[in-house]
Amino acid sequence: MAKLLLKNLYKRYENKKRKKGEALNAFAVNNFSLECEDGEFIGILGPSGCGKTTTLRMIAGLEDITDGEIIIGDTVVNNVAPHNRGIGLAFEDYALYPPLTVYENIAFNLRAKHVKNEIIKAEINRIAPLLKVDDLLHMKPGKLSGGQKQRVNIARAIVRKPQLLLLDEPMSHLDGKMRQVLRTEIKRLHNEIMCTTIIVTHDQLEAMSLVDKLAIMKDGELQQYGTPFEVYDNPVNEFVAGFIGEPPMNILTVEVQKKESSFFFKFQDANILIPVPQRFYSVVQDGMLVRLGVRPTDVLIVGEDSKGSDVSISVFENLGEERKISFRVGEGFLTLITSDDKRYKQGDIVKLEVKSEKTHLFDVKTGEKIIAQ
Ligand code: ADP
Ligand code: MG
Repeated sequence: MAKLLLKNLYKRYENKKRKKGEALNAFAVNNFSLECEDGEFIGILGPSGCGKTTTLRMIAGLEDITDGEIIIGDTVVNNVAPHNRGIGLAFEDYALYPPLTVYENIAFNLRAKHVKNEIIKAEINRIAPLLKVDDLLHMKPGKLSGGQKQRVNIARAIVRKPQLLLLDEPMSHLDGKMRQVLRTEIKRLHNEIMCTTIIVTHDQLEAMSLVDKLAIMKDGELQQYGTPFEVYDNPVNEFVAGFIGEPPMNILTVEVQKKESSFFFKFQDANILIPVPQRFYSVVQDGMLVRLGVRPTDVLIVGEDSKGSDVSISVFENLGEERKISFRVGEGFLTLITSDDKRYKQGDIVKLEVKSEKTHLFDVKTGEKIIAQ
């Protein structure tokens, strides 16, 4: 295992498909820097096309880099051939060889390196039970289920005792239940082999439950790097705030209003006033527009005698364990999640309170977090 350092990594594909409005010379990966400690489990998360796979392929040496440096352990590997980088890969489209048995598929890279038969056998006997593929070793890939194939794929990646394990959407073809099983297995595996691991996923629950640290990407750029708690509790911008969390954070434009010596957030076209927390007093002023973020679990229905705003329910959804209730606010909705059993219906008037100390403020123009001084 080894430490991994990405320094100002850039990738430009000459034939990159352009998104609407995107510059001709846009980077698929744009000034991406990251530091992973020995044995850490890192997740890269972001929408489709944001550069996750490209980043992993550059680390693996499967893709040339346009600029920057990749350091594994103490070695700059920019010019090191992929098979000499000590990397185990399990990529979504990294297919097994159909004519070979599972055993030979797992052994393939070791054979290419002329590892002795008995060492190969010992390694496979060690790894196969970890991934529960020991009963499949004599089978051909064609006979395996999707989940079994992906487990063999991971076994093949780790059998070389990689310094670094790269997993690109390793569970993408599995149904929900199988994903959960394999997710637990990957976590256990990481605890056992403690190999520095990077997993790419678009499934945030998967990422949040597996990793020590999360890197959130958008349009080739790193937005935030931190523990799942840091990223959830303290998102640096509106994109991260809206991306992490399910259902997503409510983010709505509000106007700051001053009444006597107090400030309030006023929602558009809705009778909701929230006191501005004292810590924001140094950064707000009367009439200012801000983007206000609040998680659905931090919006509450309170008793009639409490302080709060009377609002009418627009949508009521029963989600089993919880209920999701939405209120129309200007162009959008303010949504809350409650475990309260009461069956509300559309049009019911309730008293709402927003936990103002849990609110986040973002700049209307830039989307960057407004930091209270
Ligand atoms: P992700 O894995 O996050 O979905 P990718 O790294 O695959 O994103 O792609 C990032 C961007 O680079 C996308 O705009 C994609 O269209 C483009 N891209 C990826 N691979 C190639 C390629 N081989 N040639 C041209 N453009 C590519
Ligand atoms: Mg990808």
